[in-house]
Amino acid sequence: MTETRSTCPYCGVGCGVVIESTGDQITGMRGDPDHPANFGRLCTKGSTLHLTATAAITRQTRLLQPMQRLQRGQPPQPVAWDTALDLAAGKFAQVVRDHGPDAVAFYISGQLLTEDYYVFNKLAKGLIGTNNVDTNSRLCMSSAVAGYKRTLGADAPPACYDDLNHAQCLFIAGSNTAWAHPILFRRIEDARAANPRMKVIVVDPRRTDTAGTADLHLAIQPGTDVMLFNGMLHIMLLEGWTQRQYIHEHTNGFDELKATLRDCTPDRVAEVCGIGREELFTAARWFANSGATLSLYCQGLNQSSAGTDKNAALINLHLATAQIGQPGMGPFSLTGQPNAMGGREVGGMANLLSGHRDLANAAHRAEVAALWGVADVPSKPGKTAVDMFQAAADGEIKALWIACTNPAQSLPDQALVRRALERAELVIVQEAFSTTATCDYADLLLPATTWGEKIGTVTNSERRISRVRPAVAAPGETRHDWSIAVDFARRLEALMPARGAAASLFPYPDAESIWNEHRESTRGRDLDITGLSYAMLDEKGPQQWPLREGEATGQARLYADGVFPTADGRARFADTPYRGVAEPRDARYPFALTTGRLRDHWHGMSRTGTLGRLFGHVAEPAVQLHAQAMARLQLKDGDLVHLTSRRGSIMLPAQTSTEVAPTQAFVAMHWGEEYLSGVSTSGKRLGGINAVTNPAYCPVSKQPELKHTAVKILKAELP
Ligand code: SF4
Repeated sequence: MTETRSTCPYCGVGCGVVIESTGDQITGMRGDPDHPANFGRLCTKGSTLHLTATAAITRQTRLLQPMQRLQRGQPPQPVAWDTALDLAAGKFAQVVRDHGPDAVAFYISGQLLTEDYYVFNKLAKGLIGTNNVDTNSRLCMSSAVAGYKRTLGADAPPACYDDLNHAQCLFIAGSNTAWAHPILFRRIEDARAANPRMKVIVVDPRRTDTAGTADLHLAIQPGTDVMLFNGMLHIMLLEGWTQRQYIHEHTNGFDELKATLRDCTPDRVAEVCGIGREELFTAARWFANSGATLSLYCQGLNQSSAGTDKNAALINLHLATAQIGQPGMGPFSLTGQPNAMGGREVGGMANLLSGHRDLANAAHRAEVAALWGVADVPSKPGKTAVDMFQAAADGEIKALWIACTNPAQSLPDQALVRRALERAELVIVQEAFSTTATCDYADLLLPATTWGEKIGTVTNSERRISRVRPAVAAPGETRHDWSIAVDFARRLEALMPARGAAASLFPYPDAESIWNEHRESTRGRDLDITGLSYAMLDEKGPQQWPLREGEATGQARLYADGVFPTADGRARFADTPYRGVAEPRDARYPFALTTGRLRDHWHGMSRTGTLGRLFGHVAEPAVQLHAQAMARLQLKDGDLVHLTSRRGSIMLPAQTSTEVAPTQAFVAMHWGEEYLSGVSTSGKRLGGINAVTNPAYCPVSKQPELKHTAVKILKAELP
């Protein structure tokens, strides 16, 4: 038996695992006792990973050879790798020649490794000359990115997991940590046991498992987070709980924000948020006066049409109370996906560039062009996730390459997404699994390796870079994601005018050579990792960035000295006036639908859906409704209902829940069309909860408002 240290491919906690294998079969696994994220623990999902990689499951679910669909609607046929890649390169070159570089696009994934991300980014922006490369991390973390940059000057979470052991007050906003980040929640439980004086505040419209353990649960009306945070700051000002000296010495913009705060009186905030004045005062007091407040936040803030404001308004509280940069305090966004952070580091989004650079910054574009050895990086902004599919639906984007993600389930407004996939002239899907809904739309299917087979690195929520190592050989004809992108890029280089002086922009023999180039791109930047190497990660284990040349270890916390990566070194208060949700409830659509995770499933269930035991916790989809709503609609548990928005309708059982308020509804995000049938407003067959969700997005981060959709619910009349 061989043991291989690697990283869990599910959530952004980034737990270390030890994979046991014999020959080409993964036979077992356990948590890595030496990994600083989890110290040997694993949650239900992580501890069953090996069971999702058996030979039988691989045969049933994996894409093991390249496939070509000669005619849409017909089954795909096997095709040789060389033929598939030649076809792909030929069509991409033709589209670029005929319609320009912005007629092609890449939609990639926070599941990809940093090395994969780096190559796709360089392929689009460096070789083809389009910024149309975006990722499903747009649905996950882009509001957190924008919030950090707007206030602190850089996309860098300043805290770390160890801060849980020093915090006196934990402020958890928009995160069901107990289910979405289970091992982190175990660490929270340990910290509370060791420090019974610690106060835990949870802000969530639902009474989740996390909220149920809180000392104070603020069950706000959906989408009113900014009003709550502004109201807390209003009270802190009134009561003299802000740190005037810190504000004076280390920040800008507080006076401008005060004008907005003036209207956020306790009475108004209590009314808008639907909470009591006493609760509001208690939250403000605990936050401001604990001595060390740590905020954990996730999709409840991010997946919102005011996502950037929500993030910034929470960071405002930390700046106003000088609770940042020291043990036990600071704003700390939790990443949903295993490598959403790594993707941001290499600039794998439509508005970013390598090394935390900005596309909108001409000097940054010139730096990256010089690093890559190309004439320039185009300045025209690329299409972000929702806009990319809108552009494909409009016929503007003609060739679409989708890697390691399932937009035909996960993007909002599925009717739009399906129109896009049907209208595009070429859809290439690079995937490990043959079972995703997006595969049905592919003209070419390119088989990729996955967990247990891949090699590279990921970065978790606390800026910690971990190695991902293969325990078994790539099955069938699968290839690594970076390798597929490189083979395609080299073919494309032969068909397009040269963009650089080098024979190839992609001279990579292995994943490490890509990572070394990425490392060089971080030199002098806030995330500088020039002191790190694969060898150091192998020898010393996972490391946090920054870790500059000559340094022995990374940095646990940022901004201890009160100096921020802005032009003048000062943090910036953001002016965050409250705006309501994009699509408020009304008489026709009287319920506020929110979506979220289950404890034992991951995203579209490509992997977790293969294990019967992971359905033991929640066996089937249901819409959770308050008892009053059930009575009003004359429903009993298990009755089928039509849940309908302005975009589509799904049918599913209703279930009484004590977690939601009478005007709210909750459906888990994981159930795809094989579990949840639906129909668009134009009568097209759809499925999954995103048949109804709203594509409206935050104007800054472009992250869609998956946490709020106005819906109506009617009992289904059965024949
Ligand atoms: Fe994997 Fe997240 Fe569970 Fe850790 S907490 S084992 S990273 S799913």
